Amino acid sequence: MLKYTYAQDKVFTHFYDMHSGGYQKLSHAVIVIEAPKQEAIEIFKSIFKRDPHNITCDCCGADYAIDEDDTRVSKHWIGGGVLFISEE
Ligand SMILES: [Zn+2]
Repeated sequence: MLKYTYAQDKVFTHFYDMHSGGYQKLSHAVIVIEAPKQEAIEIFKSIFKRDPHNITCDCCGADYAIDEDDTRVSKHWIGGGVLFISEE
């Protein structure tokens, strides 16, 4: 079901924890999944058993800001507290 394309077409979806309700939801404040946005959302749900569109607190808004980006994620950046999930 999850299909990945060629290396040069790799897309990364970033999930930024918005601290809705005043706290971080998972172990990492930024989670990057190597997949287009819709696939990444499904992967996120299956791994974390959590809907990234969930709104913990109405005044704070959604739990995550979700952003698709074709920028490669550098190892340096991964080391900075970012959880990186890829097929490989
Ligand atoms: Zn709030």
